Amino acid sequence: MSTPIRTELLRVQGLRAGHGQLTAVREVSLTLARGDCVALVGANGAGKTTLLRCLAGVHPALAGQVRLAGQDITALPAHRRVQQGLALVPEGRRLWADMTVRENLAVALEHRDPVRAAAAAQPWSIERALDALPGLRPILDRPAGALSGGQRQAAAIARALMSNPEVLLLDEVSLGLSPRVVDEVYVSLQALRDQAGTTLLLVEQDLGRALRFADRVLCLREGRIVLQAACADTTREAVTHAYFGMETLQ
Ligand code: ATP
Repeated sequence: MSTPIRTELLRVQGLRAGHGQLTAVREVSLTLARGDCVALVGANGAGKTTLLRCLAGVHPALAGQVRLAGQDITALPAHRRVQQGLALVPEGRRLWADMTVRENLAVALEHRDPVRAAAAAQPWSIERALDALPGLRPILDRPAGALSGGQRQAAAIARALMSNPEVLLLDEVSLGLSPRVVDEVYVSLQALRDQAGTTLLLVEQDLGRALRFADRVLCLREGRIVLQAACADTTREAVTHAYFGMETLQ
């Protein structure tokens, strides 16, 4: 059977970003093909969140270029990147706590780019998101502030889908969740891959899970990509060595 050819969707070249005097992302280059699922791993402070925030346009890049579907989006502010198809599910999820899940989704739906929605082969609706993330259906009319961590995460993913993203950037999807709930969140993510072919770049602290779920793994250390590999072609040990900077142990 021939492997389907995947077209390039996101290309990042020489991206640099920092916080004051501190350089947190150093000359990062990566590409994502349409339908890719890539896990971004690295120790605390490696620069994962800063990198995702830079790609989403909520943190300024000091140098480098970001192209989405061939278009240079480096200078675009965050809301324009959302319109172009790049959505971030931030760590901590940031839903409107006093609004119900339905209201959170409706606001996102109202603010989406109509041109983008009209151009989508299958635009996301609340109903379609509930089909992909069925755990949300029974809690649709609950205030977001009353949800469990896993429910909030699923609602945040659904909210991001309302913008019809080509690429979904997910920061620490498992943070603070019990293993059972993390399993549920990953079932939802798998459904997105299978049903919608959504391209995913996700930060995951659990290395085993990252390697099982993603097609490719990128390891950041001190702001640099120190390993890029297909998950099927690497081992937990190789990634751990890259993670902690123990190349001499190979
Ligand atoms: P974690 O897993 O702990 O979230 P990370 O890999 O996501 O880490 P970042 O949060 O991007 O890493 O942090 C990269 C570097 O930037 C770290 O040295 C961190 O201390 C620093 N940093 C992050 N946010 C800020 C900030 N708002 N102000 C100053 N320094 C920051």
